[in-house]
Amino acid sequence: MSAAITEKETMIFSLSEEQLLLQQTICDFVKKEVILYAKDWDEKEEVPLSTIKKLSNLGIMGMAIDPKYGGAGLDTLSIAVVIEELSRGDGSLALTVAAHNGLGSGHIARFGTEEQKQKYLPDLACGKKLAGWALTEPGSGSDAAGMKTTAKKDGNNWVLNGTKMFITNGSVGETFVVLAVTDPLKKQKGITAFIVEKGDKGFKAGKKLEKMGMRSSDTSELILEDVQIPDSKRLGELNQGFINTLMILDKGRVGIGALALGLAQAALDESLKYVHQRETFGRLLKDHEVIKFMLADMKTEIDAARLLVYRAASLAAAGKPFTIEASMAKLFASEMSMRVCNKAIQIHGGYGYIREFPVERYLRDAKLCEIGEGTSEVQRLVIAREMLKN
Ligand SMILES: Cc1cc2nc3c(=O)[nH]c(=O)nc-3n(C[C@H](O)[C@H](O)[C@H](O)COP(=O)(O)OP(=O)(O)OC[C@H]3O[C@@H](n4cnc5c(N)ncnc54)[C@H](O)[C@@H]3O)c2cc1C
Repeated sequence: MSAAITEKETMIFSLSEEQLLLQQTICDFVKKEVILYAKDWDEKEEVPLSTIKKLSNLGIMGMAIDPKYGGAGLDTLSIAVVIEELSRGDGSLALTVAAHNGLGSGHIARFGTEEQKQKYLPDLACGKKLAGWALTEPGSGSDAAGMKTTAKKDGNNWVLNGTKMFITNGSVGETFVVLAVTDPLKKQKGITAFIVEKGDKGFKAGKKLEKMGMRSSDTSELILEDVQIPDSKRLGELNQGFINTLMILDKGRVGIGALALGLAQAALDESLKYVHQRETFGRLLKDHEVIKFMLADMKTEIDAARLLVYRAASLAAAGKPFTIEASMAKLFASEMSMRVCNKAIQIHGGYGYIREFPVERYLRDAKLCEIGEGTSEVQRLVIAREMLKN
């Protein structure tokens, strides 16, 4: 017989009173401020900056930041709950918020010096500025350490050159964390993070990318041409950028899992409404056994994914190792979301395929969850690596 089931594998979750209240607050916000407008934002491919301002007033743009710097200081499980609820209304909005909090602001909050935190976090926490996080390049995504962007020392400055690709909040953001090679011979151990700001000479957003889904989240190239950065804007230890990045991605993956979960829940909610309205062969859809089975599978898969996401989030919140759990949560939740959103379209028949109903948008948005912050294949590599490590 193999080893005993671990404590982690038998974890059970319940949200605290505060977390339930937070969940209800975001749910109410989404009903009032998001659901009615998400279709329009998607069509216009426009980041809803006025809605982000309203989220700032609720403290959501600083939810991961310490109250000392103006944030709400929420734990990872509370953050996952917020992302899930936002995503039930609009995946793009959830992605904008997740990237701002978890990636850009999160990297500064976790690895910044006291001076950097005081300088950058208050504006990010109150939503005055949006953050972006630039790891991927035109030639390197999964193999992120194969990046070509360089940072060369010049006196007390660094000179950055390169192009970053697919950067969330790239053209609307103002504060960026950029990863660059500082020691090419050391590969993964020769990469450093820098804070680069909109307005820095030689730094600009390139093409805004037109996407299949997540269309009201901004995705752009970033171009760095001889950008001079003082050493005071180096973020974290020299040559530790990639190692720090892996830690940022662990939490980010819990966020993408929560996002995928919210989309799947929205697809199920819409399907449940529809089966009560549509009749075929003299019966409501809800009375056809095949449809009931589809609904049952959707609900079961969503609940399974929620357990994985909440477990990874709870481990992170408790300060315990959660790399494998984060990858399992992201992998299962994003693939589950594609299956569930696809079934939702099937249940809606022809209406599911047209834009009047939101389920086709959910499927387009869900696809990103299998790609961003490490593809499903990369998650499988991480899970296998962690499992086989000893
Ligand atoms: C909307 C959107 C927003 C994004 N936001 C950001 C952001 O804010 N910041 C940022 O830095 N990046 C961002 N990304 C980039 C994203 O993280 C990458 O697209 C992703 O990691 C995949 O990299 P790639 O596109 O280069 O694909 P590739 O790495 O070229 O992969 C192509 C295919 O090969 C597979 N593959 C690659 N290597 C292996 C392997 N060893 N074994 C098996 N299969 C493999 C992949 O799984 C994939 O199926 C975003 C992307 C999108 C689409």
